[in-house]
Amino acid sequence: MQQALFGRSASLAQQAAAALDGPLASRSAAALQRLERSMSSVNIPPPECMLRPLEVPLRYLFGPGPSNVPPRVLAAASRSIIGHLHPEMYEIMNDIKKGIQYAFQTDNNMTIAMSASGHAAMECAVFNVVEPGESVLITVNGIWGERVAEIAERIGANVHRLVKAPGGYYTNKEIEQAIEKHKPVLFFLAHGESSAGLCHPVDGIGDICRKHNCLFLVDTVASLGAAPIFMDKQKIDILYTGSQKALNAPPGTAPISFNEIACNKMFNRKTKPVSYLFDMRHLSNYWGCDGKPTRQYHHTGPVSGFFALRESLAILAEKGLEESWRKHKEVSTYFYKGIEDLGLKLFIPDKDLRLPSVTTISIPEGYEWREMLTYIMKNHQMEMTGGLGPSIGMLMRIGLMGYNCEKTNADKALHALADALKNCKKSKA
Ligand code: PMP
Repeated sequence: MQQALFGRSASLAQQAAAALDGPLASRSAAALQRLERSMSSVNIPPPECMLRPLEVPLRYLFGPGPSNVPPRVLAAASRSIIGHLHPEMYEIMNDIKKGIQYAFQTDNNMTIAMSASGHAAMECAVFNVVEPGESVLITVNGIWGERVAEIAERIGANVHRLVKAPGGYYTNKEIEQAIEKHKPVLFFLAHGESSAGLCHPVDGIGDICRKHNCLFLVDTVASLGAAPIFMDKQKIDILYTGSQKALNAPPGTAPISFNEIACNKMFNRKTKPVSYLFDMRHLSNYWGCDGKPTRQYHHTGPVSGFFALRESLAILAEKGLEESWRKHKEVSTYFYKGIEDLGLKLFIPDKDLRLPSVTTISIPEGYEWREMLTYIMKNHQMEMTGGLGPSIGMLMRIGLMGYNCEKTNADKALHALADALKNCKKSKA
């Protein structure tokens, strides 16, 4: 009934516009539309904001993500939609799988992209391999370990935290001792702890986990493409990332890969995972990883998001991982020097432990960090951010990743910081 009324309104307005010419026509059509709307059967009128065009400002996204997206990736996302179960879409998903295998440096067949952000990959990993009551060990040296701990607690796991101050790192000996003590089925580490700006060493940890029959789960949301990671060589059992950081796709998809040891655990569990949407039994079929001849409908994947992800993985493949790592190292080293020249202090003292994609700066004494960030946004249209979780009030974060990873952008960020230092009044003496 309502639809019929709207249909009639539209055609009346169109008829009026067609019958008259020029500005008179559009004014009459608008008046008619208003009149017809007032006579409509709906109680809630169309909101005024929806009658205005979409406005999106241009910003330098120099925070910890999302990062600016190259025009080529934006163009891919604006291609016509095809069905999520069309053979061409399966081909595109197969390409994405190969692109992720390259980016992760893995041969794992069980390699897919989640139809949601990095948190979905975190939940997918934990939901599928951990059963209620099982022991898990999680490093918490920033926000991301705490998030994974909370996810594991929600499904009734027996969670053990290895807590350090933001930016703290763990020796392999400490990790092995904790694994011996808690006998976890899963050990979690953030490779790129973006809330602190730490890039944690990974070598040797996979061997420790294998020795103790424990799965090794690594978060590379903030580090993939910016710092080397070798899933197979480093014996990582489950690895995930996000689309919106150094990969430079829009937010909303999240690559994840499971090796055979992880598959063995998740496909031989006694209970069903709590989430239907994130159940790898279904997702493995949707992504053609389960060896079955047909793929069944499970959910409607984000078609445009997958186009964009494919394009961003194609750019990484064309450029090459080594070149991407080299560029991030070069630009971040250049940036560190500029920061120190401004008299600012880098939050992670050891340069080898700094995350090349997200640089953290200790809050300069006497300054109010929120005021500096607001000033930079207002005067330079540039996003930089404060800390997150336990690092709030300790530091500011500046991300130069993927498409944004250029010395010219480092100069822009340094110029904005220098301007803020000059103009943001000191709140303390
Ligand atoms: N892990 C890390 C290291 C991150 O930096 C982020 C995002 N900032 C996430 C996980 C969560 O990703 P998302 O916001 O895409 O859900």
